Amino acid sequence: MPTADVKKIKGIVIRLVDYKEADLIVTALSEEGLLSFYARGARKLTSKNQAALQSLVESEFLLSLSSQGLATLKEATPLKSFLPNDFESCIYSSLLLEILTRLIAEEDASGLYSSFRFVLEGINDGKDPLTGALMFFAEALTLAGIGLEVDSCVLCGAKNKIRTVSFTEGGYICEDCYDPESMQTYPSMYLKILRYIFKAPIEDYGRVALDKDYGLRVLKGLLDYTEEMTGVKLRSCDALLEA
Ligand SMILES: [Zn+2]
Repeated sequence: MPTADVKKIKGIVIRLVDYKEADLIVTALSEEGLLSFYARGARKLTSKNQAALQSLVESEFLLSLSSQGLATLKEATPLKSFLPNDFESCIYSSLLLEILTRLIAEEDASGLYSSFRFVLEGINDGKDPLTGALMFFAEALTLAGIGLEVDSCVLCGAKNKIRTVSFTEGGYICEDCYDPESMQTYPSMYLKILRYIFKAPIEDYGRVALDKDYGLRVLKGLLDYTEEMTGVKLRSCDALLEA
């Protein structure tokens, strides 16, 4: 009997799409990247795989691979749940999912696996979810090739006299390059938060909790910037930002 077509893999479920009467198409993020497969009968009440096939649950999947089309799930075992337990954590976890499923190219997703897991774990452990979401967002934008330059002026390279940030130009702007006609100014705390989220390694998450008011303003700035650059409007945080 050939056994080479069965594979065991660990991943975090990031998307579930109903298929036919009782099936699901599951997408999980693993160390190897995005993984999609059929889970036949997974929506039946009697399905033994229900606990493992939920968004934000890390599970081990035993898959039957086929040469064409999607792999099929044989068995799923839940390992760890990252389901959020309060409203804010829920919103920011949804933003992480939305970034992964709508902003990041399939072939780039594996690059975010460890950060995704690290931030989810932090949120679950009670770390500030806004800070984690911003750090993850910044990493995703950088991976997508539209990270902001926060080391020096994006126009002339000057390291000091940073005056503002221009989302249109893609980063920090110094005193000399600042154009009051076309550029906005931002408070220094806003600029500091931008620098922190684009520069700090994700392992730093939890060491500081960013100021909430400024953090939300930065989040709004990044969401608008993302829409401007990619056409993708991420909506997970609408309720928070309109409040
Ligand atoms: Zn400059």
